[in-house]
Amino acid sequence: MSGKTVLILGGGIGGMVAASELRRLLPTEHQVALVEKNPKHAFPPSFLWLMTGDRQPDQITQDVRRLVRSGVEVILAEVQSIDLSNRSVQTNAQTLNYDYLIIALGAELAIDAIPGLAESAHTYYTFDGSMKLRDTLRNFAGGKVAVVVSALPYKCPGAPHEGAMLIANMLRKRGLQDSEVHLFTPEPQPMPVAGPALGEAVKQMLADRGVAFHPLHKLNQVNPDARELAFDGKDSFHYDLLVAIPPHRGPRLARESGLANEAGWIPVDRATLQTKHENVFAIGDATAIQIPGRWKPDVPMMLPKAGVFAHAQAEVVARRIAAEIAGVKTEDMFCGDGYCMLEAGEDVAGFAFGDFFAEPSPQIQLRQMGWTWHVGKVLFEQWWLAPYGLRREVLKQALHFGGRALGIPMM
Ligand SMILES: Cc1cc2nc3c(=O)[nH]c(=O)nc-3n(C[C@H](O)[C@H](O)[C@H](O)COP(=O)(O)OP(=O)(O)OC[C@H]3O[C@@H](n4cnc5c(N)ncnc54)[C@H](O)[C@@H]3O)c2cc1C
Repeated sequence: MSGKTVLILGGGIGGMVAASELRRLLPTEHQVALVEKNPKHAFPPSFLWLMTGDRQPDQITQDVRRLVRSGVEVILAEVQSIDLSNRSVQTNAQTLNYDYLIIALGAELAIDAIPGLAESAHTYYTFDGSMKLRDTLRNFAGGKVAVVVSALPYKCPGAPHEGAMLIANMLRKRGLQDSEVHLFTPEPQPMPVAGPALGEAVKQMLADRGVAFHPLHKLNQVNPDARELAFDGKDSFHYDLLVAIPPHRGPRLARESGLANEAGWIPVDRATLQTKHENVFAIGDATAIQIPGRWKPDVPMMLPKAGVFAHAQAEVVARRIAAEIAGVKTEDMFCGDGYCMLEAGEDVAGFAFGDFFAEPSPQIQLRQMGWTWHVGKVLFEQWWLAPYGLRREVLKQALHFGGRALGIPMM
């Protein structure tokens, strides 16, 4: 058997897991190469704590090379194009050939897609944006804060709600009791994919923390001079501080290589993560995966974009490729299980988990809010950022056993 090359594009959450898992499973005659443009990984769920000042930048960043298993070849370069017919990838430094390709390039943010948004909005959806917003919130004189989900889809269904609650908490702590936090979204309820009961529970969480929730508000433009938000068919809103969840779009490379659908995301087989091209897989935020149920009568539901799914998909793809290389049959499939800790401030979090592939629609449960879930989120962060090795393994086992003890089978 000659040595095979598995090439992984994008060393974020999905890409790093896929690379490490493949390296663990494949004999050394096979090459596992990971191409990533940023030498330092910044853990996105911790952007919220960077914004609140609970974390410093070096506490939420780590060298990509320390986060993957030894033996993974990390290529620090920017991918420029994918040539599917010649099984090669062009970076700004070299041409790379592959036998198997895993695309884990995530989603791009397109803040310029809505007129006026780039000039006026802060965001905690990027590392730099979180730092800037932290300073702005420290000096904010008070008034109306608008947190706006500016378009669908976006990553992490919980993050807009978490951000709004944490901002409300920060303002309260600063004694700005008269300030208001408003959360606007085009969705009919919080986290619609999780069903009406969970939506009501999250609405209550928001209300308890003084966040006004405005569903069915689709932003069409911002007037930076007047500090005004314009929505389709709704009253405009005057803000003093604007925080946006920017519009997202699929990675340019996927669109240019012909892998993407009309909306710009990569359709994959939901169980195997295989694209329409042989030996080419896609995982994580870059993908489009339809799930049971309808968001509106004419709009099918899609699997949310979240690290927990990128992670699980990466493990499935790695095991499937390793089995194929070894000439072994496998039934390994991505089953749609996921979970999310919803940080609400004051060291308290909620916890939602369930089966997103359940028929006739996802079956998601919400556990009562508490300190335990906040600790779980911190442990998760520590595990994720620990260099590959013993400490990481200990943290993983702690999460696994903690999760089982709390009746969470997928942790
Ligand atoms: C504020 C916030 C909070 C979140 N909280 C949670 C949470 O609590 N739970 C959860 O499950 N998810 C959460 N998420 C979502 C989660 O971070 C993403 O869903 C996850 O990172 C997706 O993984 P991915 O591998 O698909 O993409 P990414 O992790 O985004 O990785 C893509 C990688 O590709 C690289 N790349 C892109 N283009 C190129 C190129 N041309 N050449 C080389 N490299 C390239 C990027 O640099 C990046 O490292 C949160 C996100 C945000 C923003």
